[in-house]
Amino acid sequence: ALHEASCAGCGVRLQTETQEKPGYVPESALNRDPVICQRCFRIRNYNEAASVAIDQDEFLRLLGGIAETDSLVVHIVDLFDFEGSLISGLQRFVGANPVLLVVNKVDLLPKAVNLNRIRNWVQQQAKAEGLKTVDVVLCSAKKNIGFDRVIEALDRYRGGRDVYVVGATNVGKSTLINRLIRDYSDMEEELTTSRYPGTTLDAIYIPLDDGKYIIDTPGIVYPSRMTEIVPRGFLQTLLPDKPIKPHVYQLNDGQTLFIGSLARFDFVEGERQSFTFYVSNALNLHRTKLERAEELYAEHRGGLLGGPSVEQLEEMPAWTRHSLRVKRGERKDVFISGVGWIQVNSDSGALLDVYAPKGIKVLLRNSII
Ligand code: GDP
Repeated sequence: ALHEASCAGCGVRLQTETQEKPGYVPESALNRDPVICQRCFRIRNYNEAASVAIDQDEFLRLLGGIAETDSLVVHIVDLFDFEGSLISGLQRFVGANPVLLVVNKVDLLPKAVNLNRIRNWVQQQAKAEGLKTVDVVLCSAKKNIGFDRVIEALDRYRGGRDVYVVGATNVGKSTLINRLIRDYSDMEEELTTSRYPGTTLDAIYIPLDDGKYIIDTPGIVYPSRMTEIVPRGFLQTLLPDKPIKPHVYQLNDGQTLFIGSLARFDFVEGERQSFTFYVSNALNLHRTKLERAEELYAEHRGGLLGGPSVEQLEEMPAWTRHSLRVKRGERKDVFISGVGWIQVNSDSGALLDVYAPKGIKVLLRNSII
């Protein structure tokens, strides 16, 4: 019976009455197998811009409520998708409450990287986004790196208040909360973690020893991240789970590199130079001549170039082109949200074209490494 059925996607109890409430499923969708709630359905098929906007609105309403509380706000971002997972405008919603920025997934950076430098970089980027933070802590929730410092920071800045944990989907919020439950709270039980976006429904209250709570809020869905628009099954290819092996390519202008079937990087103009790709080791990189690129993509997307499949690619927005210019002597990253970045360390300058599904955030930033 429906009153006992739960969503195969997120586990919430299903209901057919109230669309705004968790677990809603339209009557007409009950005969699907498996039955999933509308929220999960939209997350899986969120090429519909409208459904995504609803998620963002909901989230902003929730954030607005935080301004009226007296609390510490912990904002978790994903170092691998920094610009994609930073909640823009967070400052406006948290009011006077302090924000602690916890940057997760440092384990993905190559071992040789200097973490102090990364921390400075994060501070600068956050500041440029208008986000004032009381502190920045780097960690890996999964590999248990830097977690002592997360706890230290909580102790230092909480001051007997509640802690609101906010973040985009897939930044590792559940993984981190589970660690907090083990090492910091009064509670034993674990929440679910998964590779799938939007798994944590509604705010969850986790009791602390002093009668206060850690409040875990739903992950916000940003349609500008590649992780949100690929089919669920492809996330394990896209999300790196081991340190990224940088791939260096010496390119002449007029050469193209495909990143799986997800994005295309053209070196349009400039002297021969190297480009370093920081993307999941599970993604194919394929080099070709720019003049051949279109034909090659038409023929080999979803095949030789790698997944997702042609049918799944059809469900995703078509590519748009981003023209980017790196000036002489600049060290920049071409950032593609959810995919990674390409470091350009250009003595002579470079004109680049990046193709990615429409709506995916593509930008030039100061090099993280
Ligand atoms: P949430 O959607 O923010 O709650 O994220 P989850 O905790 O479900 O994690 C999303 C994905 O990121 C999962 O595949 C996790 O295994 C992975 N993940 C979480 N924390 C880390 C981390 O510190 N490093 C790495 N490499 N992956 C992580």
